Amino acid sequence: MFTIIANWKMNGSFEMAVDYADALAEFYEANPPSSKVVICPPAPYLVLMDGPFAIGGQNCHSAEKGAFTGEVAAPLLADCGCEYVLLGHSERRAAGETDQEIDQKAKAAQLAGLKTIVCVGEKEGEDFARVVERQLEFVDYADFVAYEPVWAIGTGKTPTADEIEQRHNFIIDKTSKPVIYGGSVNSENAEDISKIAGVSGLLVGGASLDVENFIEMIKSVENMQ
Ligand code: PEP
Repeated sequence: MFTIIANWKMNGSFEMAVDYADALAEFYEANPPSSKVVICPPAPYLVLMDGPFAIGGQNCHSAEKGAFTGEVAAPLLADCGCEYVLLGHSERRAAGETDQEIDQKAKAAQLAGLKTIVCVGEKEGEDFARVVERQLEFVDYADFVAYEPVWAIGTGKTPTADEIEQRHNFIIDKTSKPVIYGGSVNSENAEDISKIAGVSGLLVGGASLDVENFIEMIKSVENMQ
């Protein structure tokens, strides 16, 4: 099943979460999509986002529970209704998260019953195959791999369709896992990217913050009017 994920990052408000969930629920009632839609708001808003869509965390800790002030354990996400968790986003890797830590988090998340989406991708000027091959050594507990070229995140730049196809196939050959594309997906390019061979889903950051815009993206992928 095609998977469309909204990553709000550290944005939003109580009011936005409630309105977003209402608007999406209304959309589902009129046009139930065949794709799996997953919303990843900041952790404090997760419990506000009850609806026919799925919700996910943006990160979790590798321990099941304990004295880790400020952290969120995978069982807590599951308890709040999460089905998914994003792990190893480049913004977390940039803050010092290592491949080994991401692997341990994914293990803990699967133990808690969550589906794990582990993000990989090269920075501007880095060699895709060399960087991603190393990151892929740590995706044993990934249900999905998200290929997010770091230089495409929030920049309005995307790889060409051929590059996306080749890189997704590279990851599929090495892991046999479904690969989701992320990096400057918007309502203009979502449909075209979704049709590229080897693309099993879309991970959308900035363009997912406006619910109407996000719904347009779902509709374009679903070929709805
Ligand atoms: C992301 O945050 O994972 C992302 C892909 O961001 P954006 O869509 O804004 O490039």
